[in-house]
Amino acid sequence: MTTTWDDLPRRVRDEVARTREVVARLHAELPRWELVVWTAGNVSQRVVVDPDRGPGPDDLLVIKPSGVTYDELTTEAMVVTDLTGALVHGDRSPSSDTAAHAYVYAHMPAVGGVVHTHSTYATAWAARREPVPCVLTMMADEFGGPIPIGPFALIGDDSIGQGIVSTLGGGRSRAVLMANHGPFTIGRDAKDAVKAAVMVEEVARTVHIARQLGDTVPIDQAQIDALYERYQYVYGQGGGARTPLTTVTDPTRPAPDTTAPDDTVKDPS
Ligand SMILES: [Zn+2]
Repeated sequence: MTTTWDDLPRRVRDEVARTREVVARLHAELPRWELVVWTAGNVSQRVVVDPDRGPGPDDLLVIKPSGVTYDELTTEAMVVTDLTGALVHGDRSPSSDTAAHAYVYAHMPAVGGVVHTHSTYATAWAARREPVPCVLTMMADEFGGPIPIGPFALIGDDSIGQGIVSTLGGGRSRAVLMANHGPFTIGRDAKDAVKAAVMVEEVARTVHIARQLGDTVPIDQAQIDALYERYQYVYGQGGGARTPLTTVTDPTRPAPDTTAPDDTVKDPS
């Protein structure tokens, strides 16, 4: 069903207005942390349409418009789409990465924010298609292991979104380096995803520099597990009681028909 702006309850439109302010403000963090150049990069946040039921396929997202410089990113400029990426409200066309963000929200109900940048060091690892190894305690804390590489995927359809969900789904990492492209990060909300975007660039940079001077030393898996558990569930705000961030569901599509002959199975990469 296509969502139309005028049909939305006042409560949802008020929530959209608040979310536009948040998302506009958070876009300013990307150049501030030197994660983007020109108009590249984007931040989005989910708007839950039915808070009693929780996240669902009728939710909306707020994201920046396509091709607008960071100086022009006002609250009013932010656009609203449904979870197919179709424009629901706003004066301009949504970011060209909107389909990827929408796919993530449609398939990962605990995700409330998504960020994409081409930050230099993280993208350099993506160019080599090399996961960032877990050799720093802050990586174990934040990502619970290495930063994985996602498939090579072109913009324009669900390919990037499928690659993000298939790489991060069920795992610990809140960041994926899409092959030859750059990082996408997820969070409980947009601010949390921006933090992950800052952190993934920081660890990519530090591990890169460490490699210039010699070999890095891996952290034992048991120590990674202990660091991650403590940071996520003890140090954090009771995150253990919530749905894991990387839980994957598919509220918008029927389950794949596993009896289909091989030649009809589409390779998501
Ligand atoms: Zn990109």
